[in-house]
Amino acid sequence: MGQGFDTKSVHVTMKRDGGIPTKVTPIHQTSAFTFKNLDDIEQFYQGDRDYLYTRVGNPNTDELGKAVANLEEAPLGIATSSGLSAIMVGILSVAKSGDHIIASKDLYGGTYELLVTELASFGIEVSFVSFEEDLEQYIQANTCLLYTESITNPLLRVENLENVVKVAKKYQLKTMVDNTFATPYLVRPYTLGVDIVVHSATKYLGGHSDITAGVVVGSEELIAKAKQKCVNLGTNLSPFEAWLTVRGIKTLAVRMERHTRNAQALADALSEHPAVNKVYYPTFVSEKGNGAIVTIDITDNANIDTFFNELQWIKIVATLAGVETSVSYPLGTSHRNLPKDVQQELGITKGLIRISVGIEETNDIIETFTQALDSAKI
Ligand SMILES: *Cc1c(COP(=O)(O)O)cnc(C)c1O
Repeated sequence: MGQGFDTKSVHVTMKRDGGIPTKVTPIHQTSAFTFKNLDDIEQFYQGDRDYLYTRVGNPNTDELGKAVANLEEAPLGIATSSGLSAIMVGILSVAKSGDHIIASKDLYGGTYELLVTELASFGIEVSFVSFEEDLEQYIQANTCLLYTESITNPLLRVENLENVVKVAKKYQLKTMVDNTFATPYLVRPYTLGVDIVVHSATKYLGGHSDITAGVVVGSEELIAKAKQKCVNLGTNLSPFEAWLTVRGIKTLAVRMERHTRNAQALADALSEHPAVNKVYYPTFVSEKGNGAIVTIDITDNANIDTFFNELQWIKIVATLAGVETSVSYPLGTSHRNLPKDVQQELGITKGLIRISVGIEETNDIIETFTQALDSAKI
């Protein structure tokens, strides 16, 4: 009998106890593994032994890769040092010099920077386009990949993944989706035909704002390529951070349940507030909810400085997805380096606030934002 998502996420530990019956996997905080003799070394290279050197492989990082692959219902996964390195090794496993990538233009700011500045030096060309338009018009003879996010940042557009996959299949392109905001609790792109799914595990998978990590999942063939890139570029994750991320995943389902319930309630409450121009909160992401991020625009209706000064216990940060509610300011952080016209076109306004809704009591969250907005109202 197969296990449900919530059960699978709790039972992620694959423990290697070396004879000691530990309940959870020990941390293999070692840079290398020893060999009994030369035969033993030979066995590693024949594939009969798992571990040589931590940059090449480690039980804790393997455990994390497999755990996320299991939740995404994909064959295999690898852990990397960050979300951005996951994206980089994912892309390099399908694209090479001379290739062309079509990327959604409303990507996470750091991803946009990576694609614009680094891929060019690899000789990989990128077109940023609206994925709400007909994608076929942008396909060139050297196009190899369609890249997007299942829920975009910070305006929370829900990607039509079925359509992206359909176009890709027609032209024999690969697809890659950043599933960080949705998590496999809400969306499982691999099951919809997406080739490579990437995560900033720094966010909901870890869940406690205490690690930086990434994961790439997909077919055995593509993950073998991604792994080779990860080993050669040295973008491996540390065993301790992998262990912490696995610990975080065990509560992913219960955290997401509370996160999404609170976010829905906050989005409903703030849409009634006179200081708020617009609330961005998706609909119909999944029957389990619509995600944990609520973005509001208070341009023209409220004083942004007063709002940020009145947040009391809610922290101002340049990240998201912790158990504590926090806010970020896209124009001042994640999207500050975008050209002005791109900011404007994407709707990154001076009154745009991204709220990462935590797992506190719903009323405390709603009251604090309502009071801050009351004070800030012009
Ligand atoms: C944070 C984030 C990233 C980058 O991840 P890091 O772990 O900071 O490298 C990529 N995509 C999305 C959607 C993110 O939120």
